[in-house]
Amino acid sequence: MTDRGFRVVVAGAGVAGLFMADTLKRARIDFTVYEKASEVGGTWRDNTFPGLYVDVLSRQYEFPFEPNYNWSRKYAPASEILAYVKKVAQRRGLAKFIRFNEAITAARFSGGRWQIETGKGRADVADVFICATGFLHQPRLPDIAGRDNFAGPSFHSARWDHSVSYEGQRWGVIGSGASGVQITEALAWAGCDVTQFIRRAQWVHIRDNPHSTWRERLKLRLPGGYAREQRRLWQMINEGDAWRLYPGPQREAMEREYRSYLDYIKDPELKQKLTPDYNLGCTRIPKSDRNYYEAVQLPNAHIVKGAIDRIVPDGIVMADGAHVPLDVIVYATGFDPHAYMRPMNVTGLNGATIDEAWRERIFSYGGIALPGFPNLFMLYGPFSPVNNVPVPLGLEQEIGCIMRLIAEVRARCAAAAPTIAATENFLARLGAAFPGTVWMGGCKNWYTSDQPTPVLWPFPQSERKTFFEQVPLADFNFIPTGQAD
Ligand SMILES: Cc1cc2nc3c(=O)[nH]c(=O)nc-3n(C[C@H](O)[C@H](O)[C@H](O)COP(=O)(O)OP(=O)(O)OC[C@H]3O[C@@H](n4cnc5c(N)ncnc54)[C@H](O)[C@@H]3O)c2cc1C
Repeated sequence: MTDRGFRVVVAGAGVAGLFMADTLKRARIDFTVYEKASEVGGTWRDNTFPGLYVDVLSRQYEFPFEPNYNWSRKYAPASEILAYVKKVAQRRGLAKFIRFNEAITAARFSGGRWQIETGKGRADVADVFICATGFLHQPRLPDIAGRDNFAGPSFHSARWDHSVSYEGQRWGVIGSGASGVQITEALAWAGCDVTQFIRRAQWVHIRDNPHSTWRERLKLRLPGGYAREQRRLWQMINEGDAWRLYPGPQREAMEREYRSYLDYIKDPELKQKLTPDYNLGCTRIPKSDRNYYEAVQLPNAHIVKGAIDRIVPDGIVMADGAHVPLDVIVYATGFDPHAYMRPMNVTGLNGATIDEAWRERIFSYGGIALPGFPNLFMLYGPFSPVNNVPVPLGLEQEIGCIMRLIAEVRARCAAAAPTIAATENFLARLGAAFPGTVWMGGCKNWYTSDQPTPVLWPFPQSERKTFFEQVPLADFNFIPTGQAD
């Protein structure tokens, strides 16, 4: 061991960064987290729009090291998830490791270590650099003519303007994805005049979201209760996912179920507008906790389907010339899903930048590492299961593997990067698994956009667990850094 000490820098203090921070703290590794915002929480801090609930069971959105026995509902509201995440950060004493209001703007691998630059002009150095910068983080605004001409308030769903009063306003919500559905539903039930602008219909999961009962909460606290419940949830994830991966009776049953939700719509014309023309699951399925289909039949709710031509000071003009007068516009138009750590400038071996590496296609080894970028790890990077697994569970697998690699690079005084061959093998295995999955069927989705395959994980969870437990060290080049720790 030398004196200078082994050190890790993490970018981001969302769920992923906090999970990583807690793991590093427990391993007694020196580390700093940089967070560009003023508090922890990432997605759950930024998205405060009405109607947002977690889309997996609340119990599945727990850090494995911080059980919560007190979720209020089967699917918790976003504010409760944020409160839980903040409480975990506080209880685990993580804040003192985080530099808030300080974005990492550049990272360069040089001299066997990562040279980090922040927006405050600080220079830091790390043996290992971990990007926990999120996969749905950079809001995407639509390229619609006249956006700046709108006279009233307008904002992205991830930047909700809480100073705008709900009452007496004509709201326009652009987008039919998960956020658009939840916002429209919430505004409609709140009695607002709301028009949702959609280009295509989505499959929507109309689900019950009951309050949790004292009996359910008590069961978790009984001896062995929590572990039993964890096993049940794990099994549920594995079994529940099969319809997405393989054709067969489970998929057919799901399709029948989702089609039956559309029967809530009484007006045949509206039903036609809201019936998707592609297979179930091809896009991320919006979850509705207060029956979106009933909400959009309220007299104060309207669906306008078709292309928007332009935005004018007092509303939206459709391609067919129809003018919809509005007072407020919400852009529920999603995120740049392939930005990952960018706009940060990341430079690996021999001056190669991340933008150059990903110019032709997005790739990674296991979603966690990249050839040519030694000792750079990503959490929920490309090909992580962003569609089909509760994020904390996915993180547990990735972080377990990263910690094993960290132990290895420390022991070898080296920097690890996956080999090109191993990365190509990984991508080929994934590519071969996509045909037959729901994501390949006839729709445009944000996983694919301009990529050759969806940027997703097309195998069962049990296989992902095995993959990360058994990552062969031979898949990595270990480059001596000349620095002992
Ligand atoms: C509206 C919405 C609803 C969602 N609902 C669900 C759900 O129900 N279930 C589910 O499993 N997933 C859901 N997701 C996905 C969600 O993003 C993940 O569950 C999870 O929160 C991701 O955590 P993260 O830490 O990886 O990323 P994020 O939560 O995005 O956190 C990234 C953090 O990194 C910081 N950061 C970024 N760049 C830098 C930089 N250069 N320097 C310093 N800090 C930086 C950001 O400020 C942020 O705090 C949802 C996403 C959205 C947008």
